[in-house]
Amino acid sequence: MLDDQEKTRLVEQLAKRRAALVEEVGRKLAASRDKIGSASIDQIIEGGDYASADAMAGLDLAEAQRDIQELRDVDAARARLADGSYGICVDCGEDIADARLVAYPTATRCTACQTAYEKRHGLGISSRL
Ligand SMILES: [Zn+2]
Repeated sequence: MLDDQEKTRLVEQLAKRRAALVEEVGRKLAASRDKIGSASIDQIIEGGDYASADAMAGLDLAEAQRDIQELRDVDAARARLADGSYGICVDCGEDIADARLVAYPTATRCTACQTAYEKRHGLGISSRL
């Protein structure tokens, strides 16, 4: 388990990463602003049934969408840090190794479960955390 100091550092790291991603997504979306309309970046990040889904669909936003997905992962990690479920594998319930969390702060599975998950889903190695 990470100690409090490590967790504090992680919270800061995730907050910084989030700010950088928001800026990056904003930059990428700026060019498409007129098509996206009034949807805020936060609405887009929340995703799902946001009003601009149709507008977004017509845009080539593969890159921005990767960033948005990472933003969601970062937000999810921050939520887990806040509610105390951070660092616990969602599949087996065991602690995720500290070294893995330091390398991949948004990891939701231990290495063994992640490998099994990627095999099940036919994903490449660590193509997706
Ligand atoms: Zn596991």
